[in-house]
Amino acid sequence: MKIAIYHNNNEQTLAVTKQLTTLLKQHHLVIDNDHPDLVITVGGDGTLLGAFHHYEHCVDQISFVGIHTGHLGFYTDWRGYEVATLVDKIATMQPQLVAYPLLKGVITYADGSPNDEFLALNESSLKRLSETLRIDVYISGEFFESFRGDGLCVSTPTGSTAYNKSVGGAVLHPKLETLQMAEVASINNLVYRTLSAPIVIAPDDWIDLRPEVADDYVITVDEFANNNRPLQQIHYEIAKERIHFARYRTHRFWDRVEGAFIGSKEHNNEI
Ligand code: NAD
Repeated sequence: MKIAIYHNNNEQTLAVTKQLTTLLKQHHLVIDNDHPDLVITVGGDGTLLGAFHHYEHCVDQISFVGIHTGHLGFYTDWRGYEVATLVDKIATMQPQLVAYPLLKGVITYADGSPNDEFLALNESSLKRLSETLRIDVYISGEFFESFRGDGLCVSTPTGSTAYNKSVGGAVLHPKLETLQMAEVASINNLVYRTLSAPIVIAPDDWIDLRPEVADDYVITVDEFANNNRPLQQIHYEIAKERIHFARYRTHRFWDRVEGAFIGSKEHNNEI
């Protein structure tokens, strides 16, 4: 098995990465950052998002395991001080592989230039900062509503605890095969009306957002944002590709949610 290490550059991470590299070599595990089977990230959720995008061209062939060196992460199962236990497990056992849905987006531009396609692990949003944004929303090809406000966010189940939650979306269990669309500051009055609630679509549904023509939109895809060209439509569907996590010990999703957002219980290291 070939292993890649993907890390951020803070001091604690660099120390853990050094220890991880030494331990992997001691266990005669091959480090190959170009063609890995397993990607170990060291840092936080942002580091795992970065690793996902770095390896997204081969995401179906690899799995991820995250070590967190900052605060509790959603994509990171291990803490920095547990690196020796993790390497021991990698060397001696087959992990449980869990696969979660990804978001596929296709952007159609108003000037007819070639479409752009992307994958997101957390979410993609369409926003307008200067003026009110108006977007016609279609679900599976049928007109659904005319949105007016700051923007719309379409998230994966694993991304539901990120930006989606901040804008009032529901937290979804990552085993669900779905996407969620949440509103960002919609205008609702006698003239404009939206559902004013997050929606969760069926596995074979898709969402098309058709904004009024303007060139000052921001499209976000996880940690990236761009606003370069007037667009006609963004199409969102569940991607064929999935992200795989290598679990070397069990974890309960709802314990992680409780630990990250409520924190009223005693937790052990497995959370
Ligand atoms: P960042 O460093 O600003 O991270 C933002 C926070 O989001 C961090 O605490 C990170 O741990 C957390 N996070 C990331 N993915 C998560 C997930 N799936 N579940 C729960 N928490 C998660 O930015 P970054 O590290 O580059 O990450 C980009 C992500 O940050 C975006 O995908 C977006 O979801 C999130 N974000 C959230 C807000 C918000 O809540 N208002 C604003 C901007 C970005």
